[in-house]
Amino acid sequence: MGEIIAIKDLQTCYVDQGNPIAAVDRVSLTLNAGETVAVVGESGCGKSTLAKSIIRLHNESYTRITEGSICFEGRDLLTLTESELRQIRGNQITMIFQNPLSALDPLFTIRQQMSEMFEFHGIKLKPKERDAFLTELLKKVQISSPKERLSAYPHQLSGGMQQRILIAMAIVLKPRLIIADEPTTALDVTTQAQILYLLHCLQQELQSGMLLITHDLGIVSQYSDRVCVMYAGVVMEEAATEKIFADPAHPYTQALLKVAMSLPYSTGELYSIPGSVRKFRGPVQQCRFCERCAKALPRCREEEPPLFKLADGSKVRCWLYERETAND
Ligand code: ADP
Repeated sequence: MGEIIAIKDLQTCYVDQGNPIAAVDRVSLTLNAGETVAVVGESGCGKSTLAKSIIRLHNESYTRITEGSICFEGRDLLTLTESELRQIRGNQITMIFQNPLSALDPLFTIRQQMSEMFEFHGIKLKPKERDAFLTELLKKVQISSPKERLSAYPHQLSGGMQQRILIAMAIVLKPRLIIADEPTTALDVTTQAQILYLLHCLQQELQSGMLLITHDLGIVSQYSDRVCVMYAGVVMEEAATEKIFADPAHPYTQALLKVAMSLPYSTGELYSIPGSVRKFRGPVQQCRFCERCAKALPRCREEEPPLFKLADGSKVRCWLYERETAND
């Protein structure tokens, strides 16, 4: 499988009352063609910050990428100028967000918004050709009466249809990488399933890489090949999806799965992980999860574990696995 993107030691900080706080703290991750990597973790673990850092969609007045590299098709995205990056965004790398209505402009028709995207990337089509092309595109994302929908305004479409429009816009230029940040959270369960299946099929057809950010482990098990579990800005575990579900290594991953299993089918008591995600300033000298971890050792409160590589290729940031580390 060809490597599409390699993120190495990425650190992104927010400035909070003059102090930088690393929301993403030396995260490394690679993605291959045709592969979907799910990034999971509770709210505030740094998933969205990681996604936005890739194409620098954050507000640079209070957010800084302070370390690392993001190698995409042989170039480090962090060294590109804003105008160089603009040529890549929406073209070779696209992003699909949670709330489709906020990504569409209420004042313009679907035709106008889709045409504008072509113009932005220098694609010139005559009106008749353009309409035929857009109609085909809307058919591809399974929008009924596609020709009529071109003249509609966003508010005249359902949430599911709006998200299909955004998916059409995201895939039309055949991106190498699709970043989907909670793409179906705002939709009802049935529409969620349809949209995710559509996105999955299109991604497979294009053989793009997909970074899927979600808190929904059901979606993870169905649509991802590999899982990256984040906690308080760092990767806690990275493994093949099957391994994560069959034999989760990190106590945090085990706790996330326990929460997912207790909802909504169990008739017993709902489980939740005690405590909440903490923010860390400056050098960290403990496991970030130790205060909430049932298996914490004295050492976990004194020294942050590195990301240990295990014999099966998975990685886990937990002292319990120090002895199982694979020899490189
Ligand atoms: P997730 O996507 O996992 O919910 P985020 O990437 O949104 O997490 O947030 C990671 C951390 O960065 C959290 O501690 C959050 O409070 C902080 N953060 C996010 N956005 C901002 C911001 N604009 N200013 C300051 N801190 C922020």
